[in-house]
Amino acid sequence: MSTKKVAIVTGGGSGLGFAIAQKFTANGITTIIAGRDVEKLNKAKNELGEFCHAMACDVSDLKTIPPFVENVLSQFGQIDILVNNAGINMKKEFTEVTDEDFQNILTTNVTAVFALSREVVKHMLTKNAGCIINISSMAAQYGLPKVIAYSASKTAIDGMTRAMAVELSPKGIRVNAIAPGFIYSAMTEKALNSDPERKAKVFGRTPMGHMGQPEDIGNAALYLASDAAKYVTGVVLPIDGGNSIGF
Ligand code: NAD
Repeated sequence: MSTKKVAIVTGGGSGLGFAIAQKFTANGITTIIAGRDVEKLNKAKNELGEFCHAMACDVSDLKTIPPFVENVLSQFGQIDILVNNAGINMKKEFTEVTDEDFQNILTTNVTAVFALSREVVKHMLTKNAGCIINISSMAAQYGLPKVIAYSASKTAIDGMTRAMAVELSPKGIRVNAIAPGFIYSAMTEKALNSDPERKAKVFGRTPMGHMGQPEDIGNAALYLASDAAKYVTGVVLPIDGGNSIGF
């Protein structure tokens, strides 16, 4: 992979975003991890090394997105890859979810993805090249209880991925999504271990029989960002041990 590529990974200070930034930096991609918690970002940056840069950005504060992109361009000169990874979830009974709860999830998971992509695409169009990767979820592929706003948001991501791909691919910008299945984190492990019935249900329909690792998502993002995927656009790639096709 070219050492001259520049990527933005939103929410790159932790979890899957960190794992994506880890693969990118290890492959010589200058990677800007963007998030709200500067202390957490700086800690991640120290772990990720010289190819990593931390920049504060709360993507839900939409008016800060155009100046954030301008700032990245003035410091790094180009943006080749955008990973829209930052996301929030909320587990509540359907009737307990307020309009404000619903809107908050949509602002971070959908509107911010649109607004940041729009600003980055304006730059990518000047070079007729670029790659956008949206992080979706299995919540877009089957019905999960108690996550109504999250499900709506991730289903919107899949639709936006396809709509962006058909409009932007003729102009050299590939747009794809990754749909992580059940991926290991301290939180997912605790959630499954505290609910044996749910755990049995998850693994009962996951042919590979175990959780994925964050690096599996990192590898998928690295592939989609690379020239190895130069004929791939508009796909939602499940990284789920077969969970989405499990019986
Ligand atoms: P996480 O909470 O560790 O990571 C989310 C990151 O986004 C955090 O660093 C958080 O600070 C950041 N973020 C949240 N709101 C933000 C905002 N307004 N501005 C900037 N940054 C913000 O969780 P994760 O599991 O690593 O999730 C990453 C993505 O993967 C999310 O989009 C999530 O929906 C998706 N996902 C995760 C899994 C899984 O199993 N871990 C499964 C399906 C989908």
